[in-house]
Amino acid sequence: MSEQPRVEIYTKEDCPYCEKAKDLFDAKGIEYETYNVTGDDELFEEMVERANGRKTAPEVFIDDELIGGWDDTSALDETGELDEKLGIEREGEDGEVLEHRKLIIAGTGIAGLTAAIYAGRGDNEPLVIEGDEPGGQLTLTTDVANYPGFPEGIGGPELVNNMKEQARQFGAELKNGIIETVEASSRPFRVEMTNGDVYTADAVIAASGASARTLGIPGEDELMGYGLSTCATCDGAFFRGEDMLVVGGGDAAMEEATFLTKFADTVYIAHRREEFRAEQYWVNRVHEKVEEGEIEIMKNTEVTELHGSQEEGVDYVTLVENDKGHPTDRLDDPETNEFEFDVGAVFFAIGHTPNTEYLEGTGVEMDDEGYLRTQGGDGGGQTETDVPGIFGAGDVVDYHYQQAVTAAGMGSKAALDADEYLEDLERTESTSDGEVVAADD
Ligand SMILES: Cc1cc2nc3c(=O)[nH]c(=O)nc-3n(C[C@H](O)[C@H](O)[C@H](O)COP(=O)(O)OP(=O)(O)OC[C@H]3O[C@@H](n4cnc5c(N)ncnc54)[C@H](O)[C@@H]3O)c2cc1C
Repeated sequence: MSEQPRVEIYTKEDCPYCEKAKDLFDAKGIEYETYNVTGDDELFEEMVERANGRKTAPEVFIDDELIGGWDDTSALDETGELDEKLGIEREGEDGEVLEHRKLIIAGTGIAGLTAAIYAGRGDNEPLVIEGDEPGGQLTLTTDVANYPGFPEGIGGPELVNNMKEQARQFGAELKNGIIETVEASSRPFRVEMTNGDVYTADAVIAASGASARTLGIPGEDELMGYGLSTCATCDGAFFRGEDMLVVGGGDAAMEEATFLTKFADTVYIAHRREEFRAEQYWVNRVHEKVEEGEIEIMKNTEVTELHGSQEEGVDYVTLVENDKGHPTDRLDDPETNEFEFDVGAVFFAIGHTPNTEYLEGTGVEMDDEGYLRTQGGDGGGQTETDVPGIFGAGDVVDYHYQQAVTAAGMGSKAALDADEYLEDLERTESTSDGEVVAADD
């Protein structure tokens, strides 16, 4: 590698994406300087100026060039351009197979890491691909209170890092990168990464989770990262003292709204229906905050436009309201009210889309939203898809429970199912090689 360019990262406290950016450079063996802007107004202003007005950390610079936040940095990593900027040479030519593995696991969320622990212990030496959200969704939460074994609760990033360490101890190899395609028309599977690297594998566990949804409304692209966010725990503290709007009616929306009361003047929740989808526990927590005057709920209300600028952030939003619910479906109804509403920050908490594009064309069955269909039911093989050798685990399969502990449970099942599949494969191969195989019983 040629001489390393200067890498600078502006960070803040309690910032999962700052940790992801640091982990990415650590994994590449690249040294960097960090500047923590928390509580340092001068440094914060410096960051905002150098980042062309963006008020979100991390902000990454390579040799004084603005790379941007975590999304921009990981997007560059996806195409291999980040390595070029860092002077890191890629192994192998495009299309050439770098390595064959028994098992590749897509994702380092709770499902992928649990699968990696089990597969490592099963001597399947898994290669675990981090994807564009290393550590998965749980790295976005500061407090996990319902994961068994931690009576005082545990931070999401800490839990994930412990699991990564545990997986490595058992021989799992974790690698940065994103799987672009899995080719299943012949065996072994051909697994191609977005940066051009290619691996082959006898089995694949899809534990690629689900990504935060956006609304696709005017102002969204321009203001994402400038007052609009999909992660309250990441960005809430930047808008201290402002009125904040949370969009959504499920657990994530309730949790984010409750969290934001720490910083906001008032938190508003806009939900398109009358009833919340969230667990009763979270609805009760929100109602306590409503009684304390910290949260206000706007039911049957949707956002149709975000207004503001990258220099000044979010200024106000356009809302529509209709007592019958789903007001954007009733824009022609005379009872639909449209009004402007001043807020300093907006947080989308409107669900997730499963990350399954890389499995298209494999023959793996998915539902209308793209969630993987697995065997389910009783007995072994519950995580099998309808393509032998491809297994599914965690939120990418389970649109219903979507919990860390259920993802972990499915991760362990997928590794055990994959182990059985790999053993059968080995047995079949050695039989067809003419070896005498002892019977199981
Ligand atoms: C803010 C927040 C708070 C939460 N709090 C709790 C809580 O307190 N308790 C609880 O039980 N649950 C909580 N959850 C839910 C919990 O985080 C999820 O249920 C859990 O993380 C699902 O794990 P997973 O491994 O299936 O998927 P994810 O965590 O989504 O991980 C998916 C992984 O796949 C990778 N990936 C995606 N596409 C590709 C690709 N093409 N190639 C390679 N890799 C890919 C991603 O980079 C990521 O590493 C919370 C979720 C959020 C967002």
